[in-house]
Amino acid sequence: MSRQHAQSQPVASDADSYAELAVEALRRARLRITRPRRSILALLGQSTEALTATDIYESLRKRRVAVDQASVYRTLALLEEYGLAHKAGNRGGYVRCQRGAGGDGQLHMVCRRCDRVLAVDLPLTPVCTTEAAEHGFVPESCHVVLRGYCSRCAQLV
Ligand SMILES: [Zn+2]
Ligand SMILES: [Zn+2]
Repeated sequence: MSRQHAQSQPVASDADSYAELAVEALRRARLRITRPRRSILALLGQSTEALTATDIYESLRKRRVAVDQASVYRTLALLEEYGLAHKAGNRGGYVRCQRGAGGDGQLHMVCRRCDRVLAVDLPLTPVCTTEAAEHGFVPESCHVVLRGYCSRCAQLV
């Protein structure tokens, strides 16, 4: 995916590729790909907003996926551990993270008003590499969360 394209699209634009990449990452880690796990990845991939464990649990129940709340929490913790999702929303919601999909990292823009999240690939910037070099650190990826207002909400504040 080109940078240009990524910038103009919400998180949902490459939902399938996110789910596929995430499944692959879990497989490589020799983790089981259960139906609830797959469904959680699909939800995170499709959502343009941060999703709390409760949001996810309720959507899965509506779709008749057999899952309990504890395993939703466990799955989210697992995804966070593998860098596939993390907390970024205003209500403690999770967003998908797609490091390595087409860049060295991701930039998430989280709207303070509506909880919408936009993600774009983010290459390692000179600021990061220079700062890292000063500490003798060898960076592999970067990950930035910006808080502010989305294009719709910016007009209202
Ligand atoms: Zn991220
Ligand atoms: Zn907004």
